[in-house]
Amino acid sequence: MTHDFDLVVVGYGAAGVAAAITAARRGARVALVDKQPEDAHFSSTRMSGGLFMGATDIDQATVYLDACSGGMIPVEVSRAWAERAVEVQAWARDIGIESMHAAGGWYPKLPGFESIEVYAPMPRGVDPASVDYTLPAPGELAFKGPVPFGNGQTLHDQLVEAVDAEPNVHPFFGHRAERLLQADDRIVGVRCETAEGTVTFRAGKGVVLSCGGFEQNQEMILNHLKAYPIYFYGAPSNTGDGIRMAQAVGADLWHMNQMIGRAVGHFTHPDGRDISFNISVNPPGYAIVDKYGRRFANEYLQAVSKPNFYYELLHYDADLLEHPRIPAYWIFDSRRLNARPLSGGSFGHYAWSKDNRAEIEMGWIKEADSVEEAARLAGCLDPECAAATVAAYNAACAAGEDEFGRPMSSLVPIDEPPYYCVPVYPGGATTNGGPRRDAKARILNPFGEPIRGLYGAGELGGAIGVLYPSPGANLGEAFAFGAMAAETALEDAI
Ligand SMILES: Cc1cc2nc3c(=O)[nH]c(=O)nc-3n(C[C@H](O)[C@H](O)[C@H](O)COP(=O)(O)OP(=O)(O)OC[C@H]3O[C@@H](n4cnc5c(N)ncnc54)[C@H](O)[C@@H]3O)c2cc1C
Repeated sequence: MTHDFDLVVVGYGAAGVAAAITAARRGARVALVDKQPEDAHFSSTRMSGGLFMGATDIDQATVYLDACSGGMIPVEVSRAWAERAVEVQAWARDIGIESMHAAGGWYPKLPGFESIEVYAPMPRGVDPASVDYTLPAPGELAFKGPVPFGNGQTLHDQLVEAVDAEPNVHPFFGHRAERLLQADDRIVGVRCETAEGTVTFRAGKGVVLSCGGFEQNQEMILNHLKAYPIYFYGAPSNTGDGIRMAQAVGADLWHMNQMIGRAVGHFTHPDGRDISFNISVNPPGYAIVDKYGRRFANEYLQAVSKPNFYYELLHYDADLLEHPRIPAYWIFDSRRLNARPLSGGSFGHYAWSKDNRAEIEMGWIKEADSVEEAARLAGCLDPECAAATVAAYNAACAAGEDEFGRPMSSLVPIDEPPYYCVPVYPGGATTNGGPRRDAKARILNPFGEPIRGLYGAGELGGAIGVLYPSPGANLGEAFAFGAMAAETALEDAI
């Protein structure tokens, strides 16, 4: 083999760093390989909001995570996560990441909700205790302006610092892992492709797969998710490689049909790139209509970033033989356009303009003097109906009552021209499915037996089922299972 290490960690995101540092601190020599070049390393971790989920009580958090999983995650796996979640803030501090309490869980109706806390990373030199901040309402997340804490870039920078401080961790950028190497029923290494050719790593104590989901692999999206097309704004490099490598050595897969969903924007840049975006419909007024111009759901769920609005977009019409809400159309007026950018952009890939004008000029946002014309330009099949729908919505705003139960505060009319319309699709940050894991982060075969020497962490088969438990659940999970994977690998090797 080209290189000889104790542990090989595939994927330099939050999960991979948690695994690498945990193993290194226990004396292991670790290779941390990533397919992206160092100077253009945009993992989902770096592109993210940087929030990470913790908890205050193991039993309550287990009950809550179990309820969110919809039966897809064995309760002992949720419990293993909860045990780490109560310590995640201290764990992060120990590797140099200070954080502050920034939010709670998503679903106040579910038992154990109160035990969930969400932390945000602090920029260096900002004392969390000095920050004046009001927590968002339970189950909501809609930051109105600049927040006092850091984001995914902050987290990424601090994770890189933490890696650099560990002499036992050796990063290898530009190394695309292609295959796991197996001998005597044990995973003993990884084969990577680089610009200079094939490189092999011996992994004396095992391999941790932490190379993300399949959000940028259209073939896998078509075959595994619940509708098509579905677009993701996560890292372009997350193409399901780890899932295929694990399958090739006999891994079982779990909840491949699950994702963390929202309505997202998806556009083609004049340079030919297709780019997807997280969109912020706030502030109101807003209405989202189907292909035929009809409203169909409580859009407030999207406005407060709830990751279950996308379920409403998946509806299939068995008579029309189509998904009438793919795409759906977001309609708003100059009040919303002028308030702030429609999207935070795609970090490292596209900076959204402050006044939304560049996106209007590229045709991503359609502008017109009437709702009907804006909807027609955007591709709505019945723009006349869309205009009637907005008129009915405006009347509902005046009456203070909405047929879909939107809160009063969100019932702002759409009546200040020009009018705007943007197609939106089911999509989100990440997929959830991947190789099945046990409560010690060991990857299992279809008979429930661990594949010796193989561990999984992060969104590559994350322990998240039907409902995304809270803002920050992905990164909280990545830290928890990354550390767990490294500990188990070293224990199993004894
Ligand atoms: C805009 C946005 C906002 C988000 N906000 C939040 C948030 O605030 N809180 C939260 O919890 N989650 C958030 N998420 C989701 C979260 O960022 C991810 O789920 C999480 O970062 C996943 O971490 P990871 O370590 O599993 O994967 P990643 O951080 O994506 O790292 C995977 C790495 O694996 C590498 N890789 C892929 N294939 C290979 C291969 N074959 N060989 C070698 N390397 C490979 C990739 O290059 C990448 O660097 C957000 C995501 C996005 C896109």
